[in-house]
Parts: sequence; structure tokens; C-alpha cells
Amino acid sequence: MIQTPYEQKSRLIRLLGVTKTYTQPDKYDIRILDDITLDISSGEFIALLGPSGSGKSTLLRIITGLSRPSYGTVLYRDQPVVGPNLHAAMVFQSFALYPWLTILQNVELGLVAKGIEQSRRREKSLKLLDLIGLSGYEDALPKELSGGMRQRVGFARALAVDPELLCMDEPFSALDFLTAENLRSELLDLWLQSKIPTRAVLMVTHGIEEAVFMADRIVILSKNPARIMADLPVPLPYPRNRKSPQFIDLVDEVYKIVTGRTTEQESAPEQTINMEPASKRMRLTPIPYGHISMLTGLLELVADRGNQDDLYHLGSELFLEVDDLLPVTETAELFHLAEVKEGDLTLTDLGKQFADADLTWRKRIIRDQLKDIPLFNLIERVLRNKANHAMPKEFFNDLLEEHFSVDEAEHQLTTAINWARFTEFFHYDPDTEMLYLDTDSEIPDENGALAYKKNE
Ligand code: ADP
Ligand code: MG
Repeated sequence: MIQTPYEQKSRLIRLLGVTKTYTQPDKYDIRILDDITLDISSGEFIALLGPSGSGKSTLLRIITGLSRPSYGTVLYRDQPVVGPNLHAAMVFQSFALYPWLTILQNVELGLVAKGIEQSRRREKSLKLLDLIGLSGYEDALPKELSGGMRQRVGFARALAVDPELLCMDEPFSALDFLTAENLRSELLDLWLQSKIPTRAVLMVTHGIEEAVFMADRIVILSKNPARIMADLPVPLPYPRNRKSPQFIDLVDEVYKIVTGRTTEQESAPEQTINMEPASKRMRLTPIPYGHISMLTGLLELVADRGNQDDLYHLGSELFLEVDDLLPVTETAELFHLAEVKEGDLTLTDLGKQFADADLTWRKRIIRDQLKDIPLFNLIERVLRNKANHAMPKEFFNDLLEEHFSVDEAEHQLTTAINWARFTEFFHYDPDTEMLYLDTDSEIPDENGALAYKKNE
């Protein structure tokens, strides 16, 4: 049975068709959140899980009223949210403390904003610092504290305002493993024992285990744009044991959903770029950010395991969060080297060949695959059409920014260059920041002009 501090459930947040678009420098809109409809009720501890860059922080900002949706409605207790939501408080990954204020002053800040008078502020803040294990540190400055203690201050500051809704944006991801684990347990204890008046918790995370460990409901977002892929309960009693078969099964199930390969839902969710106006231009499918050396390592490991292994095992073996592992497995799939199904990664015949091949042959295999990828077609076509077969990286950056957000464009190009360098599909000179084709005789010099080199 799920233990929740409040028996009587009431709806706090209602999101209806929330969509967020940003206007790019080229004036095209890029859609980050697409049609998010979600209720959050008292008694719930919700983990919002999604890959980085999917729009989790954006959604959290919308829920707390720090940002407005482009379309759709945000209600708090059935009232439209039009400005910062005073019933919600936020804990940030980066702690976000004022370095020149003492710990006590940092905690008091939220209460100042609420117009609470000084002696009451002080009393309340001291009580919270005590509750969160920081008594004795009232007059210290943030820089005197360890990361874990600073995040305790972050919690105390958020809790000081008695928020009904406690929002946390990857609150444990900047902490070392043990510190994070302690804080997780302590926070859960405060919540489960109703030591804090918080009615609901919404925690953004990209850690599946963290979500299953803490939350009683997991909402999973896709990327480009973010949509709700799944919304599932976590019917495990607290305290949870990470080694219990039920825990492991659930982590596995979430893995399957995140990798988009469950039996019920054989086809992966649409992961194309949502451009507006979409009909007017070619759509570039984003490539996953898989690094070639990671790909090679992963395939060799799986080959050693008899050509098949469980993704969750592979992740823990390589000390990779799903966020870091997925781009690599997606790259393996894109290159037809492996298939992911039911949370297992299986090498294809080509993948087995690759694992056995020498470096030259590996380059050939991947090079053949790049020919079919739109991003590589585009780059190659542009370079081929130039008389000197060279173009500045900047040009491709601008071009990609018409398809992706600025950050995504940069990631896409960096990944493409990484793959191209390995395979010699095209070349990149970091000194001149030029991309060029090796037509056997031509390479650009610092000015992008042609120099001639004898290859053979
Ligand atoms: P997450 O928290 O899941 O990592 P974010 O919500 O921070 O993702 O960002 C989602 C996407 O929206 C990213 O591609 C990011 O570059 C883009 N983005 C966020 N804020 C802005 C902004 N103010 N203008 C343009 N793009 C933005
Ligand atoms: Mg974020």
C-alpha cells in the first residue's frame, strides 16, 4: 500500500494542453512542450522523468508560475496561475544560494518576500535549520559549507514558506553518491512522517532508480517535443529496498518505456523535430549524441556477453545513467549494429561483424551507415557543391539552428563531427573551424582558401 500523509486528496495543479514554443533567432518557432495535460493532487510524490533537454525545467517553471505556457491552461486549486505561485517553492540543482548572505539569511529570504515580520522569520528559520540538520551553521556563509550542506539550505529555504507544492529540479544530481543518498532518505522521512506541511512533491530527475526509490507516481516525458509518454504508479511500500525483485522489476519496466520499446508499444514514440511551419521545409531527424568510443566499448562488452544483454545491467556495469547510456544504444540502432527490445540490447549480424572487425573495417561499416542519415546527406551535399569543398562550421551551425534550438544545433553538429572524423566521411579542422571533404588533393588553409596536398 502507498503511504501518503494526507488521506483526503484534493487537486492542486491542473495542466490542460500546455504547450511551450520558443522563437529562434531566425524567427521560426521550436516546440519544447507539446500538449501536456496533467493533474497533481495532494498526497502525491511525483517524479518527472525525461532525458536532458526534454523540457523538464521548462515545465517546472510553468507549474510554479515563473514562466507562461504558449498555449494551454495552468490551474492551481482551480484558479488560473498568472504569476509566481506563492503556494509552490523550488529547490534547484545548483542550490542557488546568495553567497554574501549567511545561511540563516538565505533561509529567511522566502519569508521576507511573504511579508512575515522579523522575529517570526527568525524563529521559523531556526526551527527549519534544526529540522534539516544545520543547527550551528546559522551564521556561516554558503562557501564554508559542503555541497550536501548547501543543498540542505536549499531545502530549508524552500520549506520555510510552508509550500503546499514542493518542486525540486534534479536536487540530488550535483551531490556525491552518499550525500545524495542520505538527503534522499531524510527528505522522504520528513515527507512520509508529515513533519513538513507540504501536500505534494514534484521532483524532476533523469535517474530512473531515483524516481522508483522516492516517488509514488512517475510521469515520463519524451523529447523533441516533450509529451507525456507514460504515467505510472509505484506501488512499493516505503522504505524501499533497491535490491528487492519488485524494485528491480519496476526499474526495468521504466527502462523499457524510456527506451520506447515495450511489447504493447512496439513503435518508438515520434521523435522528430517539431518545426513550425512544419510543412514548409524538410525535416531533419536529430541524431543521438552517441560518442564513437562509447559505442565501440558498448558493442565489445555486449559481444563478450554472447551478443545480448539487459540495458539496465549494462548501465550499472558501465556506471552510466540511462541519460548517458541511451544516446549510445540509439546510435547503435541507427547504425543497424544492435536492436533494443524489451529492455535488452541484441547485436545484429552487422553488429557482430563490427565487434570483430579491425579499425579500418569498423570505419567502413559506420561510414556506410552515415550515407543514409539526413544530417550527413545535407552536410555532404553542401560541401560537394562548393568549388573548394569546404565551409566554415559556423555556416552549418546557422543552418541547423533553423531546425533545432541553439543548444541542440551545437550538440548535433559536435556529434556529427565526432562521427565524421572517425569515419573520414568529412573532415574538420579545429584551427580554421572548417568542415571539408577530402577529395584526395584539396584541403583548406587557415583562410579557407585551397592548398594542395599530395595524398599518395
Ligand atoms: P531539461 O530541464 O529537461 O534538461 P529544459 O527545460 O531546460 O530541459 O530545456 C528544454 C529545451 O528548451 C532545450 O532544448 C533548451 O535549449 C530550450 N530552452 C530552454 N529555455 C529556453 C529559452 N529561454 N529560449 C530558447 N530555448 C530554450
Ligand atoms: Mg533541467
